Amino acid sequence: MENSAEMRTWLDDLALSHPLVIAGPCSAETEDQVLSIAKALKDTDVNYFRAGIWKPRTRPGNFEGVGALGLKWLQKVKAETGIKTATEVANKDHVKLALEHDIDLLWIGARSTVSPFIIQEIADELRGTDKIVLVKNPVNPDLSLWLGAIERLYTADIKKLGVIHRGFSTYEKTKYRNIPEWQLAIELQQKFPDLPLICDPSHITGKRDMIFDVSQTALDLNYDGLMIETHTDPDNAWSDAAQQVTPTALVQMMTDLRMRKETAAGEDYVNKLANLRTQIDVIDNQLIETLGKRMKVAKEIGALKKTKNVAVLQNNRWNEILGKMILEGEQRGLSEEFVLKMFKAIHQESINHQEKILKS
Ligand code: PEP
Ligand code: MN
Repeated sequence: MENSAEMRTWLDDLALSHPLVIAGPCSAETEDQVLSIAKALKDTDVNYFRAGIWKPRTRPGNFEGVGALGLKWLQKVKAETGIKTATEVANKDHVKLALEHDIDLLWIGARSTVSPFIIQEIADELRGTDKIVLVKNPVNPDLSLWLGAIERLYTADIKKLGVIHRGFSTYEKTKYRNIPEWQLAIELQQKFPDLPLICDPSHITGKRDMIFDVSQTALDLNYDGLMIETHTDPDNAWSDAAQQVTPTALVQMMTDLRMRKETAAGEDYVNKLANLRTQIDVIDNQLIETLGKRMKVAKEIGALKKTKNVAVLQNNRWNEILGKMILEGEQRGLSEEFVLKMFKAIHQESINHQEKILKS
């Protein structure tokens, strides 16, 4: 699959003056709930109304969606508000039903993208469709799995394609529900600059008060759109309550976000610079996080040494680390002088932490 300008035709055809906005509840719960949210989103920047009908739940026993019945409610949404509709499909029966009910945009969830069998089944059922199909990243940070899904759909002659970045699952607890790993989406964007890229800050953050910041980062990275879970009574939502925002909050966010409009020639430079700076910010944050982790481990070593009364500084070990890092650095174009300086500083900080523990 080659990058091609054709990939973004469907998005360009919408001729939007702002990023694409997909909003609506995590799950369709009742006909009233679906319609009242949709009505609150009418006459806003929202382009597609989302609602999950078949909900992939990690553990059984939670609300698993209203099923095909919800498709009728989505049809009502379109008839009564004029907003186009979107839902998640996870097998060929879902695809069949969604197409029969004229759903305009189908997305493939993170738990489906991990399975080439399911993706192939969905691609075969969708073959040749003129509906928009968006592929969420797989649960695990694996770019080829994501690309593989896109290729299977592309090969099935589905032309209105795009991707949704919803973050990645980790064993470690972080401030995110699913860590963004922005560099992975940036890599995809660099490979396929014409493939529409949409951010789902709701599933990345898991918390409504973090959604704005993540959305802004996505826009600064030139993402093409946002998918934001929206509910008139978020706290009482039947799924993903903590991460849904009210329609009023969504509209406010759309006003407050710095949008990067399509630009004239001169502004191209400004856009590119902002994009590159955001990439640097993302990497700097990762550096600080990684250094923080390193110090935590160093402290644990300090505590362990304390139990055996061992000295903090162990020269052999230190020289071994330095030698390895100078070689690694060389392969990445980093000078020996820089690597030495940086590791001396890191090492000193580790020693300071360990000494504090030994003296405590
Ligand atoms: C959703 O969009 O509600 C959903 C289940 O998303 P994901 O596949 O990203 O978990
Ligand atoms: Mn959800």
